[in-house]
Amino acid sequence: MNTTAQGPRAEIDLAALRANVRLLRERAPGAAFMAVVKADAYGHGALACARAAREAGASWLGVATPAEALALRAAGAEGRMLCWLWTPGGPWRAAIEADIDVSVSGQWALDEVAAAARAAGATARVHLKADTGLGRNGCQPADWPALVGNALALQAEGLVRVVGLWSHFACADEPGHPSIAAQLTLFEEMTGLAARLGVRAEVRHIANSPATLSLPESHYDLVRPGIAMYGLSPSPTMGTHTDFGLRPVMRLVAPLALVKRVPGGHGVSYGHLYVTPGDTTLGLVPLGYGDGIPRHASGSGPVLVNGKWHTVAGRIAMDQFVVDLGGDTPAPGSEAVLFGPGDRGEPSAEDWARAADSIVYEIVTRIGARVPRVHL
Ligand code: PLP
Repeated sequence: MNTTAQGPRAEIDLAALRANVRLLRERAPGAAFMAVVKADAYGHGALACARAAREAGASWLGVATPAEALALRAAGAEGRMLCWLWTPGGPWRAAIEADIDVSVSGQWALDEVAAAARAAGATARVHLKADTGLGRNGCQPADWPALVGNALALQAEGLVRVVGLWSHFACADEPGHPSIAAQLTLFEEMTGLAARLGVRAEVRHIANSPATLSLPESHYDLVRPGIAMYGLSPSPTMGTHTDFGLRPVMRLVAPLALVKRVPGGHGVSYGHLYVTPGDTTLGLVPLGYGDGIPRHASGSGPVLVNGKWHTVAGRIAMDQFVVDLGGDTPAPGSEAVLFGPGDRGEPSAEDWARAADSIVYEIVTRIGARVPRVHL
């Protein structure tokens, strides 16, 4: 029996993902495209999304952790791949041997990657990361000349090759934010200094989705969009996905597990935060915070049932929540759609982000492993 087809599931529209990649590539003509597929492709399934993105012209993959990079390679993901979130003692040698480019933000990482390259008898491809203002990973401007110089010395020994110079924005989703121009200026200065010291980088890159969509001067040689590739707008201040012509890739749907009539005054779910205002029909949706449905959207998350929007009634529990269907009496098994592309009237992940006082990134990425991904 195919339980996936019957039960709760996240349908992943790979044709939509391919269309989004093509649209984003048109926004950044001349730049290579890195498909950011970390965190299981923001919950969409890393391998399938990596392959679909590649079909649409992505020549690079980007992931955070070495475990993600190595798993993708082991599963057969092809093309250049950059892995950027390392901790001391990480599997540098395995990454080098799996032909994975690595990011280096500081001296400890440079030392470890050089030692691993020596042990592997290979040259590691390195992207030096500059902190141009995010205040997270990346080398501080004061430490940059030494890091670049030391990388070049290792390059002369054949242990590393500096192929990339890169950084990441703090506020690209707030167009006009003064930090954007400041980061770009510093990026110019730091990459310029590296070039003067002798770095011949293949790619300079800083643009995430908001910058790919709205900041052409940030595109350089390569763009690194994540959320927009999954068809979602980076932030409400920039508009919705439709404003950009993006197609949401994930559709989250569950069959109603139970439909029942109850009298007025009936408490619903833990804490009885919702009490039925009169005789009504309750529908039970078999998804909960154990599946990544934000509990914060209790009483506010929208759900499409039988062509109408309803609101989560009462608390979202670990495995289930309830919607008050009023006078409707759909059959058990009828579809409850939490979010999707909107072409069949369903809410969007953006609606859920608003209801949960969160961001679309969190809405899709948190959908748990218990929910099968069905790639269409
Ligand atoms: N580049 C890096 C280093 C990231 O960490 C991320 C994700 O946060 C991205 C690119 C993609 O960002 P976005 O999903 O906003 O496009």
